[in-house]
Amino acid sequence: MQDCIFCKIVQKEIPGKVVYEDDQVLAFHDINPVAPVHVLLIPKQHIPTHFDITAEDTKLIGHLHLVASRIAEQLDLGEKGFRLVSNCKEYGGQLVFHLHFHLLGGRHLKWPPG
Ligand code: 5GP
Ligand code: ZN
Repeated sequence: MQDCIFCKIVQKEIPGKVVYEDDQVLAFHDINPVAPVHVLLIPKQHIPTHFDITAEDTKLIGHLHLVASRIAEQLDLGEKGFRLVSNCKEYGGQLVFHLHFHLLGGRHLKWPPG
């Protein structure tokens, strides 16, 4: 989609530090990490928010979660664990309107979030 920064990363129009890629999913390091490990996982297709996920996307979303745990293992988060979060719209703190999941790890994360 035009003017979507994450679509541009998918299209390689702007650079991303990619950690994983297949035909459906792309994962890359967040430009402004808030933890020692901060990777963003996105579907390659433009889905703006959680509310735009359709029944046809359920396999894709499941696949993305499987990829997340594989990446977590590769980045040595297997023992201590990690957090996988997605911010939805204004109150969720969503800034980029292309569905994405933050894979955070490498430090003890607090709960509840602010
Ligand atoms: P949100 O608040 O929408 O859940 O998070 C968007 C995330 O995208 C933020 O953590 C932000 O640092 C990251 N981000 C925004 N623009 C870019 C970019 O051009 N490249 C990368 N790698 N991350 C970005
Ligand atoms: Zn997009």
